[in-house]
Amino acid sequence: MKEKRKLALSTQIFIALVLAIAAGIAFTGNPELATKFIKPFGTIFLNLIKWIVAPLVFFSIMSGVISMKDIRRLGAIGGKTVLYYMCTTAFAVTIGLIFANLFKGTFPVLQTSDLSYEANSSVSFMDTLVGVFPNNFMKPFVESNMLQVIVASLFIGFAIILAGEKSGKSVDAVLAVNEICMKTMEMILKLSPIGVFCLLCPVVAENGPSIIGSLAKVLLVAYICYVIHAALVYSMTVAAIGKMSPLKFFRGMMPAIILAFSSASSVGTLPMNMECSEKLGVPKDIYSFVLPLGATINMDGTAIYQGVCAIFIATCYGLSLSFSQMLTIVLTATLASIGTAGVPGAGMVMLAMVLESVGLPVEGIALVAGVDRIFDMGRTTVNITGDAACAVVVSAKERLSGK
Ligand code: ASP
Repeated sequence: MKEKRKLALSTQIFIALVLAIAAGIAFTGNPELATKFIKPFGTIFLNLIKWIVAPLVFFSIMSGVISMKDIRRLGAIGGKTVLYYMCTTAFAVTIGLIFANLFKGTFPVLQTSDLSYEANSSVSFMDTLVGVFPNNFMKPFVESNMLQVIVASLFIGFAIILAGEKSGKSVDAVLAVNEICMKTMEMILKLSPIGVFCLLCPVVAENGPSIIGSLAKVLLVAYICYVIHAALVYSMTVAAIGKMSPLKFFRGMMPAIILAFSSASSVGTLPMNMECSEKLGVPKDIYSFVLPLGATINMDGTAIYQGVCAIFIATCYGLSLSFSQMLTIVLTATLASIGTAGVPGAGMVMLAMVLESVGLPVEGIALVAGVDRIFDMGRTTVNITGDAACAVVVSAKERLSGK
């Protein structure tokens, strides 16, 4: 019965996607209408998700930590997760750089004097590191600073394990509140078909075919890399280490993939990603830890986009990058992906940091900013698929080690 209902939701989401594209095309002559009357409902849906996501991440990671009970198991899972995330991200940006270099001949060298882009001041690595640790209990929640929420949940989760018996009923309380957060999220998710329609329709209406024009090639290169990365890295790791057929994996992930594509937010897709991972057989204590962490620090799609855009921007300015500059890009894009929030447009802000690291003009972002949403939809899809692939891989590894 339950299965039937869930299948119906994913079908509804797919229908919403098709309708949104059709309606978006119909609105291309009059995009303001879609922006004025349809987009606000998408915003309501996203607001509800943003509202629940900080407590959800907090209690989910905490209950993941305390249900593992022993710190060594947690260390093993955490280690595997972070290793998978870092390696796949470095691989992703390398794919982006390789393909962008292959296609670089087709990128235009532009007249760039009238470009302007107001860069958000980029932050140094040390400042980013300091910023990960909260200095106030409530601030991470008020500001939805996910890295700080994660740090707080890890500290308190550890403390509950270490306090043992003395932590009294707090284990039950955390698990119970986590259930409540999950239920709330489930209610919000029932609105996803409406959310998907209202978010996607205005994007199609505003960005109609004309804006894509000269940027079609760089978009195409990014999308080729997204597909190759997913088909190669996720299929292979899921099949070889996760012992799951890639077809089953991608089919099971479809609702989350569609939601990520329409919302361009990993954090917003987190609840749906949890549902899909559960259906794929990932144990709850693993996905409650691996997915929220991934939604915050694992951004393979964003890393691909940064590699591709760095080469595109360099080419447009008539510059070419040396091998060591490309290595620097691999390193900074991997680190930047940790600091990229899982919300729409965040990757473009971090692109400034990547460009600066190799001395490319930050104003070059203006070249790709107009179609950022289209890049973003693809990169978010890759980002969340990578998180789920990691959950499948880690849970298989744990099964093998007999835990
Ligand atoms: N929107 C992306 C995400 O939520 C982040 C980005 O802008 O690259 O995963």
